[in-house]
Amino acid sequence: MPTNNEPLSGRRALVTGSATGIGRSTAKRLAADGASVIVNYVGPPDQAESAVKEIEGEGGRALAIAADVSNEEQVQAMFAQALEELGGPIDLLVNNAGIEKPFNVVDMPLEEWNKVIAVNLTGAFLCTREAARGMTKAGIPGAIINVSSVHEVIPWREFSHYCASKGGMKLFMQTVARELAPQGIRLVNVAPGAILTPINQDLIDDAEKRKAVEDEIPLGRTGKPEEIAAAIAWLASPEADYVVGSTLFVDGGMTLFPKFI
Ligand code: NAD
Repeated sequence: MPTNNEPLSGRRALVTGSATGIGRSTAKRLAADGASVIVNYVGPPDQAESAVKEIEGEGGRALAIAADVSNEEQVQAMFAQALEELGGPIDLLVNNAGIEKPFNVVDMPLEEWNKVIAVNLTGAFLCTREAARGMTKAGIPGAIINVSSVHEVIPWREFSHYCASKGGMKLFMQTVARELAPQGIRLVNVAPGAILTPINQDLIDDAEKRKAVEDEIPLGRTGKPEEIAAAIAWLASPEADYVVGSTLFVDGGMTLFPKFI
């Protein structure tokens, strides 16, 4: 069972898109550090339920709630349910849900552009707004952590929608950090490099392709979801109380490498 010695004991966390990948590792880590965690998901509940079982099996507290983060009504219903189930407002939000699909700009259907912006950027806005409303109303401090990407600063051919969403997330985060810091609500970004998760299934399946990416990373390897989760857990903890409006790059040095892609 989590104890009061754990850095996130008593915190009420919500991690969007946390049935898989970085979100799943983050939900597990926050729970291990003592937080009660909402595992948000879309689609079939199986993976979210198995994440909840894993957390409970390790003595943590978690609950799966379905909601499409790009849908205002579903986001509001999710936060209302979280408030009721956890007995107080979310004070630790991780905006992690994200999608990508490559298109050159000349071939990019508006629908695909809109989808990526809606999930990656509007979803972060909707969840940030609900979390901030809850914390402001209750007069409590908290943290909002966005999982952006090295592509909040590195342009990536065929992913202009994704880069626009992650670059947008950077200035959205910094602007809202200025608005909410006076209330003790901290906003920060964690920017992963290449991490082996379902979003990078092609790198998992294709050793040659993975090697080409690894050659572009100064540390010479891809990252693990747990390494992103660890950064998020620290940024959420009281030790990071003075960190506001920054992006922490967790990328094996990828942002130092100008040849990347
Ligand atoms: P992933 O595909 O495992 O995780 C994305 C999650 O978001 C999935 O569980 C998916 O179901 C969920 N999701 C998609 N649309 C949603 C919606 N409308 N509402 C709620 N949830 C939704 O891949 P991942 O690598 O774990 O990605 C997590 C985040 O990390 C994403 O924002 C991604 O852009 C970012 N990121 C990943 C990498 C990497 O190399 N893996 C690098 C940089 C940034």
